[in-house]
Amino acid sequence: MAEEKKDLITLESGEMAQPFNWTAGVYGSKFLTELRDNKKFVGVKCPKCGKVYVPPRRVCGPCFEELTELVPVSDEGELITFTVVSFGFVDPATGAQKAVPYGYAAIMLDGSDTVLLHYVNETDPAKIKIGARVKAVFEEQRTGSLLDIKHFELI
Ligand SMILES: [Zn+2]
Repeated sequence: MAEEKKDLITLESGEMAQPFNWTAGVYGSKFLTELRDNKKFVGVKCPKCGKVYVPPRRVCGPCFEELTELVPVSDEGELITFTVVSFGFVDPATGAQKAVPYGYAAIMLDGSDTVLLHYVNETDPAKIKIGARVKAVFEEQRTGSLLDIKHFELI
């Protein structure tokens, strides 16, 4: 039997742009609108367990209760954990390489029971501690994005 010759085929993807839009949902839109228009945070409170979610969501995970009570939340909070990013990569939010180093943290805003992930403007690990108090700093030009928050700063 003759050996069958197998060729390897190489495909080239080329370059392609695929713009798309999606909805942030009713509560996501309210959250982003408050950031954009008023520089305010809003969460949603569970009527059964009292947990406040930021950003707001429709259902409480532990209780399976529908969440309907939007509540104001502070622009200040506590740093729960953080890292200083020193390895550059493309920021999926902008499509551009983000300058390194930068601080990235989980922040629990006062009045919230969940954490929000965002940038922190401190990159010296000796100056940043878990439990530190932080405050949101907003962009001058806001578009209705989580990036309307420029970063959180230590206070
Ligand atoms: Zn609940």
